[in-house]
Amino acid sequence: MIDFKKFVEIVNKNSKFVITTHINPDGDALGSQLALAYFLKKLGKEVELINHSQTPGNYKFLNEENLIKQYNKKFDNIILNADALIAVDFNEITRVKSMVDVFQRSKAYKICIDHHTNPKNFVDEFFCDTDYSATGEIIFELIKSYGENLFDKKIADALYTAIMTDTGSFRFERTSPKVHRIIAELLEMGTNPTEIYNKIYNELSTAKLKLLGSGISNIQSNSDGSISYMVITQEMLKSAEANEEDVDGFVNFCLSIKSAKIGILFFELADGVKASLRSRDTFPVSLLAEKFGGGGHINAAGIRFYDKQLDEVIPQLLQQTEKDLTEFEKRGSNAEV
Ligand code: 5GP
Ligand code: MN
Repeated sequence: MIDFKKFVEIVNKNSKFVITTHINPDGDALGSQLALAYFLKKLGKEVELINHSQTPGNYKFLNEENLIKQYNKKFDNIILNADALIAVDFNEITRVKSMVDVFQRSKAYKICIDHHTNPKNFVDEFFCDTDYSATGEIIFELIKSYGENLFDKKIADALYTAIMTDTGSFRFERTSPKVHRIIAELLEMGTNPTEIYNKIYNELSTAKLKLLGSGISNIQSNSDGSISYMVITQEMLKSAEANEEDVDGFVNFCLSIKSAKIGILFFELADGVKASLRSRDTFPVSLLAEKFGGGGHINAAGIRFYDKQLDEVIPQLLQQTEKDLTEFEKRGSNAEV
């Protein structure tokens, strides 16, 4: 259960805030970060938003005032001297990559606001609950709990982005009646769903579509078709003239195949491999990801394999996935007997 009173206390007690989010931030990460920043600024607080990664192009419309900065050592003093350091949409320190050291050294009161499973102990206070569809849903309730109505269209747009993207446009498991009630309130604050959807998903570059085309034409499956996977190499990126953020969303195509229960995207990075895992129904890809040092949710998780090559990672992860899926299904059928 989230202690909303405690959150209000922390807000009232502190004046200099730094908010950060995870590497390769998605809509929930950025929307949550910005909504919280707009809210705190309305209360007259000093707020800095500093991330390891750049803000992807399709989310720049949310960051029009250029509030979000990409981390470099120049920001260390701000982070070290903040009153409160807020981590949104992640629950373990390694997810801030180049900022791990300064995050740990900072004397600020540290807070985590998140909805992923299995949080690690890296902050002073958690406002976390895995029942929430998005971190943005938690931020909505935190802002509400402040009492005074401090919402406005900018906050609504940021929260709508957070919730829409993390619910797969309102179709994933945790899209509850409460989510739709929150969305109704955001629309009443002036958010335009068509505009936001188009900005995020319908302003793609030709390069991204070319890369997707080459990824789709190479989708493979295991012998019974229960696992489908796509591989994106640096070479493919180069020949499509695409960049790393263009790969966002590709994994979903693996799961659009009828027989597929698990979809995996293997993405070759400059310094290793990123695997994105998706599942239908109740197979917990987060537990599978945790076996390799990653994490996430039941139906969506990720792993970073540093300094490893595709030809090592692919067979290793596929083998473990098959093993876990077989055991999971065996347990399921036993349970029914
Ligand atoms: P994606 O595959 O879209 O990057 O991430 C899916 C989900 O898994 C997201 O909720 C994301 O936060 C989480 N995730 C992705 N990569 C990692 C990782 O390397 N470590 C952990 N702990 N979580 C991850
Ligand atoms: Mn999220």
